[in-house]
Amino acid sequence: MAEPSSDLSPFEAVQYFFHDVADQLGIDDPTREVLNGTYREIRVQLPIRRDDGRVDTFYGYRVQHNGARGPYKGGVRFHQAADLDEVRALASLMTWKTAVVKVPFGGAKGGVQVDPSTLSRPENERLTRRYMSQVSYIVGKKRDIMAPDMNTNAQTMAWMMDTWGRSYGHEPAIVTGKPLTLGGSHGRDAATGRGVVMVLDAAAEQHGWQPENLTVAIQGYGNVGSWTARIAAERGYRIVAVSDISGAIYAPDGLSIEMLDKHVAEAGTVAGFESTEPIDNNTLLELDVDVLIPAALGEVVHHLNADRIRAGTIIEAANHPVTPVADSILADRGVTVIPDVLANAGGVTVSYFEWTQNIQEFKWTEEQVNEQLGRYMRTAYRKVRERSEDLETTLRRAAFAIGISEVAEAAHLRGYV
Ligand code: NAD
Repeated sequence: MAEPSSDLSPFEAVQYFFHDVADQLGIDDPTREVLNGTYREIRVQLPIRRDDGRVDTFYGYRVQHNGARGPYKGGVRFHQAADLDEVRALASLMTWKTAVVKVPFGGAKGGVQVDPSTLSRPENERLTRRYMSQVSYIVGKKRDIMAPDMNTNAQTMAWMMDTWGRSYGHEPAIVTGKPLTLGGSHGRDAATGRGVVMVLDAAAEQHGWQPENLTVAIQGYGNVGSWTARIAAERGYRIVAVSDISGAIYAPDGLSIEMLDKHVAEAGTVAGFESTEPIDNNTLLELDVDVLIPAALGEVVHHLNADRIRAGTIIEAANHPVTPVADSILADRGVTVIPDVLANAGGVTVSYFEWTQNIQEFKWTEEQVNEQLGRYMRTAYRKVRERSEDLETTLRRAAFAIGISEVAEAAHLRGYV
């Protein structure tokens, strides 16, 4: 495989990772065509009335990448950069991720190209409902199941479920990440962050690291970043830096996450938290820490800063935070990257538990959810690690090898190719 270029789009980058491993696995061309491309892509126009009476038009996407292993599954993000290419990339990552953790879903993703900070709550609700009604005919509990992602949350899922139900009847299983009252699962809110920390624990156990001796920096303090910080701090890891869109803070002796949460509840941002040094988001990525956890945007570690990353381990809580060029620079430098398709799979795993609970009309306890999540995450970590040792390759290549083999087998068995 030729060296990756530094100007790949997000989907081209995921395709690069795919072909790199498909070459090693000797995947034939017809199978490659089916696994690499997307099954269905929808772009919808979303005119909404603003609170002041004006009409603004946005565009939304839903990409179903591969459904060989089960119904399509993936979150919906509201972000100004959410275009078709990015949504394709995220949908294909979902295909490999669900296969790595062995939950019976295919891969999909949705996005609405909008800066959500410009929307009032009623405007957000109108946009969410309009999006769901425009894509509703491809959604279903055995067809395509949505979930939260960047700038969407349990409330978004509640509006989506309600909108879909008005046409097709009450069906909580069409979205996961719902509020508990509407059929959500205990532990779903924290699941992605909890899964990230389970992976960190597994790496620590493998290498004989003690949590209290490890320093951790986390980029992003939304759903994933904040839960990662909270649970990692409870486990004894020293969180020395966190950030959000408004700024980054650094405290070499460690942050009190409990106090930080109180500050965030009042100030709406981590910036300005007492007794911390303000830094910028790029500096956070380059801090001299043991573990760096990007938990916000994609492509934050790239060809220009990969040489300056000082963490020995990067855990990809965000999707696609490391570009292919950066990935190869980091591998050459001996930095371990625990890839998104493994590291942030806790979210889709508990989404699977939520979906099964909805179908069974039964509720698990939080202990049951967390225990099962631990089982899935530890098994996935062990399998990826063993595969990387067998193939003498990176954890990303090993995870893709597992994902691609599983999906290829399902596609062959179904007779797709
Ligand atoms: P979120 O909207 O809850 O939080 C995003 C956070 O990133 C916020 O703190 C925001 O301020 C911060 N942020 C935005 N732009 C930033 C910037 N330029 N610099 C620094 N911080 C910035 O989103 P989330 O659900 O926590 O998702 C975060 C990442 O995790 C995304 O890549 C998402 O695809 C991935 N992910 C989420 C889930 C999930 O269950 N929510 C599951 C798997 C992967």
